[in-house]
Amino acid sequence: MEQDNILEVRNLKKYFTVSTDFLGRPTAYLKAVDDVSFSIRKGETLGLVGESGCGKSTTGRTIIHLYKPTAGSIRFNGEDIDSRTAGKQLRRHMQMIFQDPYASLNPRMTVGDIIGEPLDIHGLAAGKERTRRIIDLLQMVGLNPEYANRFPHEFSGGQRQRIGIARALAVDPSFIICDEPISALDVSIQAQVVNLLERLQAELGLTYLFIAHDLAMVKHISNRVAVMYLGKIVEIATSGELYSHPQHPYTQALLSAIAIPDPDVEAKRERILLAGDVPTPIQPPSGCRFRTRCRYAMPVCSEQEPTLIDIGAGHLAACHLLHKT
Ligand code: SF4
Repeated sequence: MEQDNILEVRNLKKYFTVSTDFLGRPTAYLKAVDDVSFSIRKGETLGLVGESGCGKSTTGRTIIHLYKPTAGSIRFNGEDIDSRTAGKQLRRHMQMIFQDPYASLNPRMTVGDIIGEPLDIHGLAAGKERTRRIIDLLQMVGLNPEYANRFPHEFSGGQRQRIGIARALAVDPSFIICDEPISALDVSIQAQVVNLLERLQAELGLTYLFIAHDLAMVKHISNRVAVMYLGKIVEIATSGELYSHPQHPYTQALLSAIAIPDPDVEAKRERILLAGDVPTPIQPPSGCRFRTRCRYAMPVCSEQEPTLIDIGAGHLAACHLLHKT
């Protein structure tokens, strides 16, 4: 493991059984995450992007062991995480922020108790120290400390997401998986939450895995971006490189859908329409999984699965077109 990597994921698979025979043996799997590898350096943000159902949220939940991995390895701070070690200590250092802040906050608990609960679970603070810490956390995320006595339903979506962030920060984590944290928010609020996450990262030295369904959302916050399609990473690069020189036809199509705030450029923009829906991960297409929607598909694409190849400076993409050049 490279010394400055906080997380290394190797050949991670997460399959869900969708049918069994009369003896209860699996006969079909939904391959939500299928042989995914990447690493995240300390202090960086890796954006993980793809359409709904591509496996990006399952990847995040498997890393934090909300789901048990089917295969592969996860190393966090140089240590292998498996079901045995994925206990309290891991949960303390690795936290998750969810898409729907309302569903993830207990409606019967006050905001103070929601934020204080992780302190109780980990035995980190009690009495006045607990109260002081809750006040600090509320201020840290830009909320009035008086909100501690209120309930989640009294807040807007953006404020609820701030409460979720304060709760995640309570145990002083080093790594946070942000699972579509702004997708459910109004556009006007999204930038505020992204700015808050960036400020907290700078102040607290946090590392993020930032999961989102469109490339526009992760552009601002990510140092590097990985693009997922049907359980696989198809491209990964620094943000600047990915947005200026996308190599995979799927990334190119996703990027072509982003509006450009320059009328001249916008007028010339070619919009690549993706035909059809994402195929089922129960029976993914043979060879390249994107071939059923790719405008460049060739015979080899149905016969051989393209592997990720390094095209320089850590820019990797999985497409047979790159092997030809
Ligand atoms: Fe398209 Fe073939 Fe490349 Fe897949 S491998 S993205 S089908 S050209």
